[in-house]
Amino acid sequence: MKNVKARAVFSPESSFQATTIERRELHPLDVLIEIKYSGICHSDIHHARSEWKDEHYPLVPGHEIAGIVVQVGSEVRKFNVGDRVGVGCMIDSCGECENCRKGEEQYCLKGNTLTYADVDKYGEHTQGGYSTHIVVTEDFVLRIPEGIELDAAAPLLCAGITTYSPLNHWGAGPGKKVAVIGLGGLGHMAVKIANAMGAEVTVLSQSLRKKDDGLRFGASHYYATSDPKTFEELAGSFDIIINTVSANIKVDAYLSLLKLDGALINVGAPVEPLSFNVFSLLGQRRSFAGSLIGGIRETQEMLDFCAEHHIAPEIEVVSADQIDEAYNRVLASDVRYRFVIDISTM
Ligand code: NAP
Ligand code: ZN
Repeated sequence: MKNVKARAVFSPESSFQATTIERRELHPLDVLIEIKYSGICHSDIHHARSEWKDEHYPLVPGHEIAGIVVQVGSEVRKFNVGDRVGVGCMIDSCGECENCRKGEEQYCLKGNTLTYADVDKYGEHTQGGYSTHIVVTEDFVLRIPEGIELDAAAPLLCAGITTYSPLNHWGAGPGKKVAVIGLGGLGHMAVKIANAMGAEVTVLSQSLRKKDDGLRFGASHYYATSDPKTFEELAGSFDIIINTVSANIKVDAYLSLLKLDGALINVGAPVEPLSFNVFSLLGQRRSFAGSLIGGIRETQEMLDFCAEHHIAPEIEVVSADQIDEAYNRVLASDVRYRFVIDISTM
């Protein structure tokens, strides 16, 4: 066992405290990563505050991890000491079920192992990237392409893949009109990626406050959802709508913006159930769908896509002492557009 520094919450109401956690000795297929940067995802807040389920404390969040390999197990073949690597939301899966064999480990039928807030196959509570080191089996480690800085790479491991995967699956590309609800961490990546895929992108934000940014990220249009005229003007416009909002939205109003065969895909994960009228789907054969991160193969494809298209998140690097402040700013929709913790400040 190796004791490493971390920042943890000790209850749903707790602020972050400095602590130490144990990382296991390397098994033959394990990689030890020295974490350089860790992104702050809104999911970290949901977990830290037990909003989705009752969590086990202390809890160290962080599933947007970028760092350097510092040690490899005896049978590791994919990575060498010194490699620039990333870890996202999951660190293991059964590897044998139908979905794992398809490379969709996030939908593992036996349940994948989350990077934190989970129990791994050794019976240990998993702890995330707000820490100096992590041990991960090589199949769940990603290669960060040259050309993407480590601080900017971190958010790609969740915000990047969570938006790339549904855009890819639902066929965003030339001739397709894509709308993105919410210009936060996920939303701004959705705009950049959909634009790079060749789609025409519209941002649907609560206000016009971030309009210049949205257009700079590649959106062609930007509307405020607080203005009822937006819903009249855009009725029946979109092939794909990606909802990244962390709170409830008026689903029927957004479904009315879809064309024939259009799909509203939820990646936002609000605590309370969403409801809608089935008639909002029937009339134009619309779909209401959801999507969870992406598989390991697709995550590598996304990283390579971002390198090739020179796409990176807009980040604000913070120190380990600023995590609570960053959480408050995320909750106030005052994130531009992803906080990333500099782990050297730990
Ligand atoms: P974020 O940075 O806080 O962005 C969410 C954005 O939604 C905000 O910037 C804001 O954009 C908008 N918003 C916030 N509250 C709103 C409200 N009450 N009504 C309308 N719009 C509101 O969060 P994030 O890190 O992108 O994560 C977004 C959600 O996705 C979270 O629920 C998170 O848990 C979930 N998530 C899911 C997956 C998955 O695999 N499906 C992966 C990662 C995260 P505007 O200011 O532009 O309106
Ligand atoms: Zn996340």
